[in-house]
Amino acid sequence: MTTRALRGRVLRYAADPAEQGAAARRYDEDGAILIKNGHVLAIGDAVTVLKDYSGEIIDHRPHLLLPGFVDCHLHAPQTQVIASYGAELIDWLQKYTFVEEQKAAHPAHAARNAAFLLDELLRNGTTTACAYSAVYPVSAEAVFVEADRRDMRMIVGKTMMDRNAPEVLRDTPRSGYEQSKALIARWHGVRRQSFAITPRFAITSSPEQLEAAGALAREHPSCYVQTHLDENHREIAWVKELFPDAQDYAQVYERHGLLGPRALLGHCIHMTERERERLASSNSVAVFCPTSNLFLGSGPYDLAASRDPRFPIRTALATDVGGGTSYSMLVTMREGYKTLMLRGQRLPADEAFHMATRGGALALGLADKIGTLQPGAEADVVVLDSRATAAMAHRAETIRDIEEELFLLMTLGDDRAVRETYVMGEASRPKGSSEPTQ
Ligand SMILES: [Zn+2]
Repeated sequence: MTTRALRGRVLRYAADPAEQGAAARRYDEDGAILIKNGHVLAIGDAVTVLKDYSGEIIDHRPHLLLPGFVDCHLHAPQTQVIASYGAELIDWLQKYTFVEEQKAAHPAHAARNAAFLLDELLRNGTTTACAYSAVYPVSAEAVFVEADRRDMRMIVGKTMMDRNAPEVLRDTPRSGYEQSKALIARWHGVRRQSFAITPRFAITSSPEQLEAAGALAREHPSCYVQTHLDENHREIAWVKELFPDAQDYAQVYERHGLLGPRALLGHCIHMTERERERLASSNSVAVFCPTSNLFLGSGPYDLAASRDPRFPIRTALATDVGGGTSYSMLVTMREGYKTLMLRGQRLPADEAFHMATRGGALALGLADKIGTLQPGAEADVVVLDSRATAAMAHRAETIRDIEEELFLLMTLGDDRAVRETYVMGEASRPKGSSEPTQ
């Protein structure tokens, strides 16, 4: 039985600021989080929370304590694909990704890569992520093993691909189904691990494989489904060629039972009105990956359209490493802000931080466990320093309130602003490798 308290400026959201503005924010200037056996026992004003408490207190003042960040889309085997030059989606997959992902067949490579990825997430304050592995079960297994060892809540899927990829990177409808099934039996619901059924996208899965993925989703309704939708014009044209009978890209997934409240659809940039209607009525989640959308030239996500009251679409935020260019959700927020500016839209700091915490948890149906720090929730916490760099400290001199401070953090912050990351109440941020070297 371990009990400890974290003290600092405590910030979290009780509602969506896109609906309720600043009233959605809960902020305690002198706050505390009381943690027992990895779960939040109490949170709020320090005087109240710490009354009658005489155990260990870790004092993080003057820093901010928030729920650990939630990253709803990334690719585990792409930590050495990130920063590959000069290609849009299809060329980028063929030239870089489909070469690199072959290495994930080797258990030692997959294990080293998974350890690096999870270290890097924790260094950036991300405590939960939805990760695609490579096609090889060993690649998914490696992420599960590392996540479980660190007690991180992760959602992991074995990528299914049975066409339009190099032979060595292909499974079959049957093997993809059976390998996924074995991983579900081994990991889904085990401690903090969950499985996502993961057909990469309609181009690399035959109708038979999509049918097998749909069968998995029916047989395991508590599993997630993750795939890509409407990222790039060439991709969309190719899907049209491969599925001439489908009215649009979303219908390809819909026909196979792959839309729904546990479906996480990466990108969703170039959607038709019918597709918006189908995503909204199926309660599926669109995953906004701004650094990737800019880097691969895919285009800007339309957040305002996702809030159209006729077809409101749940939206989550994600890095999409390695098409994305940063592991940091702070960097992702600012690139999200810039992306939306290109559409004449705004992303207030409260909305960005909500998306990266409670919003992500809601998208995953996990808001009772992560993203809020409400009593009873799992104690995943990030500690942020708004004066982490000279430029941040200098700008912070003129900050007047918490909203301006959050905007400074998302505009100038990165892993250097993360002082500590707690996983189930345990300090877990790796020390060392990304600190500045003398
Ligand atoms: Zn992706």
